[in-house]
Amino acid sequence: MPSPAEPDPRPLTGEPLAVDLLNTRWIDAAGRHDLLDSLEGTALWLNTPPVREALGGISVPAGHDTRERLHQARAALDEAVADPAHPSPAAVTAVNDVLAHGRLRQVLRPDGPGTVAEVDAPAWLPAWAATADFLRLLADRPDRIRACGNPQCVLHFYDVSKNGTRRWCSMSGCGNRAKAQRHYARRHQV
Ligand SMILES: [Zn+2]
Repeated sequence: MPSPAEPDPRPLTGEPLAVDLLNTRWIDAAGRHDLLDSLEGTALWLNTPPVREALGGISVPAGHDTRERLHQARAALDEAVADPAHPSPAAVTAVNDVLAHGRLRQVLRPDGPGTVAEVDAPAWLPAWAATADFLRLLADRPDRIRACGNPQCVLHFYDVSKNGTRRWCSMSGCGNRAKAQRHYARRHQV
C-alpha cells in the first residue's frame, strides 16, 4: 500500500471531488491511464488531500468493494457530465442509484449545526461523496462543469474563473498545444 506521501501522477489535480473522480483517467504521451485500474492506485487516490478532506478524516479501506463502487460512481458521472444541465434519463438513474446508498443526517455539535454522511457500508462513502459533490456543483454553476477543449483529452474541470472562459485542463498542456496548432495553421495558410 502506498504511503500518503506518494506523489499523485495525474496531470490535473485540485478540482472539486466529483470532477477529481472523473480525472482519475488521463491520456499522455505514454497512452491512457486509469488510477482506479489497481488497488494501489485506488489507495493513492483515497489518500489525496481533497478526498481525505471530503471523507472527513474517515479512513476507507481501498479494497475491491470501494474500487467497484468508485467505478460505478465514475460511470454515472460520465453520463451526467455529458450535458450537466440537461442530464439524460440514463444519467439521472445512474446518479440516483449511487446516491441511494447514502444520506446526510443533521446534527448539533458544541460549535453549532453540522451534518454527518451516513452510507450503507464504508465502501460506499467515497463513491457517494463524489456523486453528492456533483449535485453541489450542479446547484451552483452547472455551466461551469466542462470537458477540456482538446478532443484528444479526457480531463474535466470546474471553471471558477471570473469570466467563465476557461477552455483547457491546463494552459501549459492542452492550452499550449492548441495555441501551437493555431499558429501552425496560420503559417501554412495559402
Ligand atoms: Zn486537456
